[in-house]
Amino acid sequence: MSELTVIVPCKNEEEAIPLFYKELVAQTAFLEKRGTELKLIFIDDGSDDKTVEVVRGLHDSDPRVHMISFSRNFGKEAAMYAGLRAAADSDYAVIMDADLQDPPSLLEEMFSYIDQGYDSVATRRVTRKGEPPIRSFFARRFYKVMKKLSDTEIMDGARDYRLMTNQFISAVLSMTEYNRFTKGIFGWVGYETKWIDFENVDRSAGKTKWNFWGLVLYSLEGITAFSTKPLVLSSLIGIILCFISFVMILFIIVRWLIFRDPVAGWPSLMTVIVFVGGLQFFCTGILGQYIAKAYLEVKERPLYLKNEKNCF
Ligand code: UDP
Ligand code: MG
Repeated sequence: MSELTVIVPCKNEEEAIPLFYKELVAQTAFLEKRGTELKLIFIDDGSDDKTVEVVRGLHDSDPRVHMISFSRNFGKEAAMYAGLRAAADSDYAVIMDADLQDPPSLLEEMFSYIDQGYDSVATRRVTRKGEPPIRSFFARRFYKVMKKLSDTEIMDGARDYRLMTNQFISAVLSMTEYNRFTKGIFGWVGYETKWIDFENVDRSAGKTKWNFWGLVLYSLEGITAFSTKPLVLSSLIGIILCFISFVMILFIIVRWLIFRDPVAGWPSLMTVIVFVGGLQFFCTGILGQYIAKAYLEVKERPLYLKNEKNCF
């Protein structure tokens, strides 16, 4: 017998969990034929609704259901890591959202690729219908920028919904960084990955935990975690500005030699000072981002803390 662990990060998902559980069990009947046992791990990421109680109820009637509960909200990235840690000995693991936006109906197809020898089967949504247009617009920009900046492949519309073999799980677990950007980590580890496209599905119940600003910060996280090109950019800006100022100095000297003109006009001077000052702050900011990340990294704080009395 082999084992599949389904990892479900949950933050306030009391309404969605029963629907998810029902759908998942219905869609995983094929596993029995395959000789694969199902194990479900819900990660309670500091929920303040009845998420824990709902999962406990499921656990009482179905011993395949387990829960890891955090001491507070640590974010979905930490939740996914905790889930993968718990799945370290499983033959397969899959990460799924509790809101059924990652359709369990794809699992059978995903397993068919694993059986063909792929190490992971990833999913991406090819449509973003039901999402605010402005969010889709910026999301697409983000993936474009990311493609240019990073050497690691990050697919447009990629979900965290991914089925992986034990080898892949170990690889992801070996990356213990504090600033986690799992979509990048999945790409970074490599291995043979099959991509499956699907149409966006609306949330089954409850509401999204993301606001626009949260997504902006998350995308910056993704950029700093998987690219150091912004640092190169700031050096480049510095070099270009030096060159421009050199040309300007030459221009002023030549003009003085020919016309004996005193340099005039403080408005132009002010503009230049403000412009260069602004750029300096911009570049220091970029530098600061990386230092801040390194600072958090060297502290080696745990990614999450468990609340043992709610783990089963
Ligand atoms: N989630 C989490 N911790 C958080 C935020 C979200 O574990 O701090 C979970 C959430 O319960 C859901 C999944 O991550 O199962 C995706 O969240 P959501 O549906 O809000 O994101 P969206 O699908 O809108 O991108
Ligand atoms: Mg969702």
